[in-house]
Amino acid sequence: MGQLIFSKDFNDIIEEKKYWKKMEDFPISIRNFVLDTSHSFLLNDLETGAKLCSNCYKKLENGICPSCHKNYQPFIQENSNYIINLFDKEYQCYYYVFDVVDYGILLYKIQEFTSYYNPLSLLPYRTSKFTVANVYQVLSDRIIDLMTNKEYSFDRIERLESQDFQNSSEEDANLFSTFFNLEDSFLYVANLDQLSQTDLYRYTSIEKVKDYIITNKFMLATLTYFPLHFPQFEYLVKMKLYDLACMCTSEFKKGHNFKECFGIDKKYYPLMKEMNITWDELLVLKKYPTLDSSILRFFSRDSWLITDLLKYVSLEQLKNYLDQQKLTSIFIADYHDYLDCCVKLGLNLKDKDILFPPHFIEQHNLLLMEKYIAEDPEMNQKIYNLSKILSFNIYEDQDYIIFPADSIYSLIDESSQMSNCVRTYGEKIATNQCQIYFMRYKNQKDKSLVTVEVRNGKVVQAKTRFNRDIDEKMRMFLQKWERQLLPIIVKEENDF
Ligand SMILES: [Zn+2]
Repeated sequence: MGQLIFSKDFNDIIEEKKYWKKMEDFPISIRNFVLDTSHSFLLNDLETGAKLCSNCYKKLENGICPSCHKNYQPFIQENSNYIINLFDKEYQCYYYVFDVVDYGILLYKIQEFTSYYNPLSLLPYRTSKFTVANVYQVLSDRIIDLMTNKEYSFDRIERLESQDFQNSSEEDANLFSTFFNLEDSFLYVANLDQLSQTDLYRYTSIEKVKDYIITNKFMLATLTYFPLHFPQFEYLVKMKLYDLACMCTSEFKKGHNFKECFGIDKKYYPLMKEMNITWDELLVLKKYPTLDSSILRFFSRDSWLITDLLKYVSLEQLKNYLDQQKLTSIFIADYHDYLDCCVKLGLNLKDKDILFPPHFIEQHNLLLMEKYIAEDPEMNQKIYNLSKILSFNIYEDQDYIIFPADSIYSLIDESSQMSNCVRTYGEKIATNQCQIYFMRYKNQKDKSLVTVEVRNGKVVQAKTRFNRDIDEKMRMFLQKWERQLLPIIVKEENDF
């Protein structure tokens, strides 16, 4: 039991709840855990990509420090909590420790503040400061910070979760960040079995997330709000869907069957378990049912784009295409942009060369630029004015007619019909580097036939659809036209 003391304003006798206030108060096993963890961080040299021992600052060889022989292998993995950047200079992380005491369950949050900055030395240098940041008493419906006497109610956080955050108060925001901040955190797992014997945690299966939590990020909600407020936590843990349990239990409403709970057929469960599916991956799976886990991982950061993407490509096609272009999943959003440009520029996405251009980045950048040009009315006006001057070059015979492009949109339309890149010529036309003419059948003036590029009064390019060469009859027509063409001669400007 706690000690009886006067309240702060001396009008009451209250029970002081005893807890550890500084690092020296903690048992040696816990202090060792904190120090061992702290000395398992790898320093990441951003300039060279080398990983260094955080004790000796020696470059690791096969994950092992050549000086102190510490083995860092278990901590080198993608997204590992243990890898920190050497040039951050300052680093902050947290250690969570449960303690079962006579008046209930306490959860400590210890902060480690590390500075790698030493003004007297150019060598990396490390000092760490440990402080007890929070001490929560954990109850079935709330947690209380014993250092501040602030209460954090589970019902309130659940109401907040279902609300729109636009109008939330500062206090609400604070409550939310207390539970859901994803900080670099480590949990003392040695006493989780003892914790699971308590009345409060008996039906949570929290001890089963031990292995998961050692290497993965978690939140305060993972340790309190999720297991104590939602029976779904225990179900998810028992199903070995650890990531869903630890990161987003509250997203799963009670349902009568698998499909109602997860929004996906039960046949996907073995895959979900095997890959320890995340919420983002589950969102992909719901929109695009597949048994290929690499697809779910690849698209997990961009699940909101999937509906749009699927109008034009399958996810396998897109992944294969980006793989073949040697581009990572980071380019999914760029590809989505690219499709958006194609649609806005009126390109034919049924054409494979447009859907999957041979050089994605170049084509993407080009189209983006072009979209801006298309949105720039000044350029359009310049092209229109020039087309009025060039109209004296309109020419026809019994079959064909040829006339100048008179707008960005006429270029886009020509591009779309011809599957060529004349849509990118807006700036060249506006700055008089060249002129573009459309040669068409007289009786089908709206249907593209030949795109003609003229420089200094000469036809330099004349191509039919898909950049194919023109036939003899077309060539004769163009030769006749070229002879009486009134040129716009551009004085060569010096190159940069
Ligand atoms: Zn070492």
